[in-house]
Amino acid sequence: MSEIEIIIQKLIKFRDERDWKQFHNSKDLALAISIESSELLELFLWKGNEEISREKLKDELADILSYCFLLAEKHQLSVPEIIQDKINKNNLKYPADKAKGNAKKYNEL
Ligand SMILES: [Mg+2]
Repeated sequence: MSEIEIIIQKLIKFRDERDWKQFHNSKDLALAISIESSELLELFLWKGNEEISREKLKDELADILSYCFLLAEKHQLSVPEIIQDKINKNNLKYPADKAKGNAKKYNEL
């Protein structure tokens, strides 16, 4: 089992020990991802890029990733597989020889 799979199992154990699966419908998990993403944005509000607390950054990233992992698990999706699939898609959309060193969208390359 990979490190990601092990931590997802720990997250599921944490959830199940509290009987919280009943609250984790897809819509609310998606909302939680968005809300936690907003908490991440709030860390940067009115500050320079590097002025944020590393501890708070860790907390908010962990919150976002945890809800992402729970939503993936709910839909029987393998996190490593869906990320690999997306990398493959982006490799086609953004060939390294065209995309290297610029931030243009794939349809402007
Ligand atoms: Mg949070």
